[in-house]
Amino acid sequence: MTKHIFVTGGVVSSLGKGLTSAAIGLILERRGLSVSMQKLDPYINVDPGTMSPFQHGEVYVTNDGAETDLDLGHYERFTQAKLTKNSNFTTGNIYQSVIMRERRGDYLGRTVQVIPHITDAIKDAIQAGIGEPTGEDDAEVDVAITEIGGTVGDIESLPFLEAIRQFGIERPRDDVMFVHITLLPYLRASGEMKTKPTQQSVGKLREIGIQPDVLICRTEQPMTEDMARKISLFCNVRREAVIEERDVDLSIYQVPLMLVEAGLDRIIVNHLHLSQESHTDLSDWAAMVEQIRGTKCHIEVGIVGKYIELHDAYKSIYESLAHAGIANSTTVSLRKLSAEDVIDKGIEILEGVDGLLIPGGFGERGLEGKIAATRWARENQVPFFGICLGLQCAVIEFARNVCGLKEAHTLEHTPHTPDPVIHLLPSQEGISDKGGTMRLGGYECRLAPGSLAHKLYGEERVAERHRHRYEFNNEYRERFEAAGLLPSGIHPELDLVEIVEQPAHPFFIGVQFHPEFKSSPLRPHPIFRGFVAACLALTKDPTKIDLVAQRSP
Ligand code: GLN
Repeated sequence: MTKHIFVTGGVVSSLGKGLTSAAIGLILERRGLSVSMQKLDPYINVDPGTMSPFQHGEVYVTNDGAETDLDLGHYERFTQAKLTKNSNFTTGNIYQSVIMRERRGDYLGRTVQVIPHITDAIKDAIQAGIGEPTGEDDAEVDVAITEIGGTVGDIESLPFLEAIRQFGIERPRDDVMFVHITLLPYLRASGEMKTKPTQQSVGKLREIGIQPDVLICRTEQPMTEDMARKISLFCNVRREAVIEERDVDLSIYQVPLMLVEAGLDRIIVNHLHLSQESHTDLSDWAAMVEQIRGTKCHIEVGIVGKYIELHDAYKSIYESLAHAGIANSTTVSLRKLSAEDVIDKGIEILEGVDGLLIPGGFGERGLEGKIAATRWARENQVPFFGICLGLQCAVIEFARNVCGLKEAHTLEHTPHTPDPVIHLLPSQEGISDKGGTMRLGGYECRLAPGSLAHKLYGEERVAERHRHRYEFNNEYRERFEAAGLLPSGIHPELDLVEIVEQPAHPFFIGVQFHPEFKSSPLRPHPIFRGFVAACLALTKDPTKIDLVAQRSP
């Protein structure tokens, strides 16, 4: 029977709960166990698909087309867990299902209440998150890790905490484990770290009826033995289960190594009575972290986007660039530029970058800035990588400035353009609902033999994830091809253009999908990898190569 770990957070938000949950998943996998990963979010939106990236960071898309919380990106980058529509539930989603059942009369006239109806629906969601075994070799997972969004003490998260409390008492004691992540703030004035917020947060949890089995304490400074003992005493958690998670000096990928060093792997397997290998083998992971430490070169990539002020808005893209950097022994620094600034301040703000990446986006703000930046990369032979809206910019730019279709545009922006080079498929016209109505999730793509895409992937058929409404207009395909824009990736059944490239340019590729959702530190995505390699090979600043070797020790 599957065992469960519930991860909650206290004191403040942004403690890196998602990252720590993902690290726990990896640690267990490296002890020979299989895991599932799930996030329960207390907000009312049915899914984050309709939320602004400014509010919530990027929307992460699963292979089966669910629009989910960005923490699921950490889960996939760290673990092999299969993520689906059942890997992320929100309060809105839970209430919607209960209200639908009520309307159908499923509750037979009873009063529908938070306890037990909402909490039962949450428990069902937790069960669904484990996933059904799909075939003979697909056994039930050993451990299901469920992260509860928000901070303990919020009104919104109460039904979720109540549900996991019930879940805990309905199962044998050694089947369920509660991990609480908290903060030990450092007060500069007195030069000490404080345990009181942790005590109070655990106090809140215990009021609800949850006694944490493990405390993971985020700190800036080392946690002393005295502090660990004090926390243990006041929070009723064994000393060995009070774990330090210090701020990393190099990369988030150090976190699992730190947690194993602190003994978290042993504590979990002992508590849950898991039969497993006696050793957590993170050797390849540790080698990858060493590779980051030993990075030799340095490049700078310009990102021209709409939400650049918020790092989380393009989280998976930044992570994918970091993965590609590891594979190329290169530090990738980012010059984040607002698309509007490209127009207001001039194209010079791009001067000196080794490559240009245009990420996905919606709406018209900044679109012309992205198109101008794309033109700059094409004309100056600077490596270009366009993702989703980035491909659409590349197509519009090419149509206007190479094919002479001066008013070419996307229908998303200009519904009456004479040359709608990016348009809607007939099947999508007339849709008015905003949530969940795009082309979402994994689709196959066939690559043209000998193309850049084919060389990068090293295979002819790939599958990538989508999240968009508009498409390349096939009516312009031959014309573009003749002028030097090659459609090099095609969806085999729907005949949709998924990749374009410019063979005359040293590295120019646009993709309609989101490759950033399939990159991980141990398996960097081939296009990101090739893009960073091209930036390095074509850099106009030779001091960037072997930069670290030039630094004084
Ligand atoms: N807004 C564009 C579309 O809907 C691109 C979407 C995206 O970049 N994710 O097609």
